[in-house]
Amino acid sequence: MSDVCCPLIRAVSDEDRVYELSDYEGATARWCPGCGDHSVLTAVERLLVSEQLDPEQTVFVSGIGCSSRFPHYLKTYGFHGIHGRALPVATGVRLHRPDLTVFVVMGDGDCTSIGAGHWLHATRYNMRMTALMLDNAIYGLTKNQTSPTTPQAHPTNTQPKGSYLPPLNPLEVALGVTNASFVAQTAEWIPAHLYATLRVAYQHDGFAFVRILQRCPMYTPSIYQRAVQKPDLVEMLVHDDGVLVPELERTYRNRLMHDPKDLNRARELATPDEKIRLGVFYRDETKVKYEDTRYVARRSNAERIAQLNVELDKYAI
Ligand code: SF4
Repeated sequence: MSDVCCPLIRAVSDEDRVYELSDYEGATARWCPGCGDHSVLTAVERLLVSEQLDPEQTVFVSGIGCSSRFPHYLKTYGFHGIHGRALPVATGVRLHRPDLTVFVVMGDGDCTSIGAGHWLHATRYNMRMTALMLDNAIYGLTKNQTSPTTPQAHPTNTQPKGSYLPPLNPLEVALGVTNASFVAQTAEWIPAHLYATLRVAYQHDGFAFVRILQRCPMYTPSIYQRAVQKPDLVEMLVHDDGVLVPELERTYRNRLMHDPKDLNRARELATPDEKIRLGVFYRDETKVKYEDTRYVARRSNAERIAQLNVELDKYAI
């Protein structure tokens, strides 16, 4: 195969290469105009460029939903999986290819409903990966169905008189899981904060869970509107171990010093009240990582086939 037609091979063959945005851009995104997913994609591309991540050493794993189209829009490796199963796939990738950088992209329905069990255990397993949960509080791909994070009384196609139950709070859930090591929240309409949070999450040594508040102009256009228009409703959690974005201080004047090591305080801050809090709620890199407790030997194909033959020979007649 000529290296002219394969950007990954071209990148491998040139160790001095500096990756540019065009090295990461995949297909043209087909999300609705104004969808917050566009903003997240831009921030992720900015992260890939700033960290100079090798496209052939980077994997984006997703489930099903609007945001799960993410891997198609990047020129890294990708796996567009099945509903709720992004984290088990990512866990397998990470266990068998620890040399790869793994990102996971999920929606709120994907992560907190059908994938909720996997979410809890991936948090507890604390494998090295960055998990992004784009929360638009609705099932958008299946046309306006109530998700676990839909605000109470918000009408949808499945609950036309309004969502019956109070919404699940992903921060409280994540902070309640044994062995959780990184929990953060950001908003796609504040690009500087979004990028800074993704960067801190990527640099975390363990499972970094980031809830990204994401506007869906198609089905939930109002739920974040007040916070978008009134920055005073937002409170920035700041700390040297968290997210610091000095250029936002004039616009977002509510700032709270919060040490991400303080789990009890993090849980208090995650409790719903009038404020939307953005920043790193919790971070502890000393938590045990499942992959460090297991060594998955990497064998050549020939070794694998030989081992397989040994096993099959046991049943030979
Ligand atoms: Fe984005 Fe909503 Fe459109 Fe899905 S339905 S692409 S979340 S705006």
